[in-house]
Amino acid sequence: MESGVVCGGVDGVKMSLEEGLTRREATRLILVGGGYIASNPIGLAIQSRHDAQPSCTYTLFQVREGLVSPKDYVADKAQCLPEVRQAISDGKLAGILFQPTDHEVEDAVSHSFSSKIEDPVRVDQLVRTQMKNYVNDKSQEKNKRNIGKFIPSLVAVFGEGHPHYILFTDNLVLFPEINNDADVDSIFRHELEHLLDFNRGITLGNRRLSYAVLRGEAYSAEFMHHLLEVRATYNELRNAFYERVTKGNSSVSPRWLGHQSRYYAESWDFLKKNAKSDFEKEISKLQLAESNGIRPEIEGGTLFISCDLFGQKVRLRIVRPK
Ligand SMILES: [Zn+2]
Repeated sequence: MESGVVCGGVDGVKMSLEEGLTRREATRLILVGGGYIASNPIGLAIQSRHDAQPSCTYTLFQVREGLVSPKDYVADKAQCLPEVRQAISDGKLAGILFQPTDHEVEDAVSHSFSSKIEDPVRVDQLVRTQMKNYVNDKSQEKNKRNIGKFIPSLVAVFGEGHPHYILFTDNLVLFPEINNDADVDSIFRHELEHLLDFNRGITLGNRRLSYAVLRGEAYSAEFMHHLLEVRATYNELRNAFYERVTKGNSSVSPRWLGHQSRYYAESWDFLKKNAKSDFEKEISKLQLAESNGIRPEIEGGTLFISCDLFGQKVRLRIVRPK
């Protein structure tokens, strides 16, 4: 659970977006979309081959057997997952960084800010604020289960159309809850949802949340964190339930599904019970209504996830692994 991060109000104040499985150190790969490749000194260039058919070459098994590097595996994913390729070709996803150095992260945020902001003084200010937050987060990250995060993550660019980067740690291939390629795909989908929310802003009912709106409203960083986590995890679960209804079972592993189901329930519960300001209450109500097709339910101390989408009701009992 994130805490203590203040956000809202003024430029450059950090929004806490990194979740339990998404914050920590980072490192060196990477895939970069579009024209940035030529001038970008970091990482591995990935073209957005949206004219080609998606096909993944490498597997998590190969990575764990030492046959394929995690970096090549991630680069391959960026090309074979249609949603990722779409975000690259739309200019929303500027790149994916695997275990980047701080310098590489700084290059990336600088590129992101300067793509939409002309004033170099302002860009420099935002880069310094973002990097200060990023480095500070790393130093405070005691939980080593972070898998990914994205940058920039300043409220000042929320809904402003900036291109963003996804950062992965090697937990993407090491985390014990991750058991197969579908689990990894699901994590890409999760981070992509965050990125798109941040790029476009969030529309709920007739409300559109962007920096211009958020700067005038009362809300906590923790509330915003859970709002974004409900949305990203819903996206993962929705895909899993869709497969279950249409194909008979989900390709994500039961362990990852259980992990994310508990995570979903936690953030859902927060929105339901801990919205404080009028703004938080309004947004919470709208989000829970939008996410109502997938609901966490506790019965006798056991978590169930009910899905009533795709014309068929499904209810899963979520058992915590021993
Ligand atoms: Zn998340």
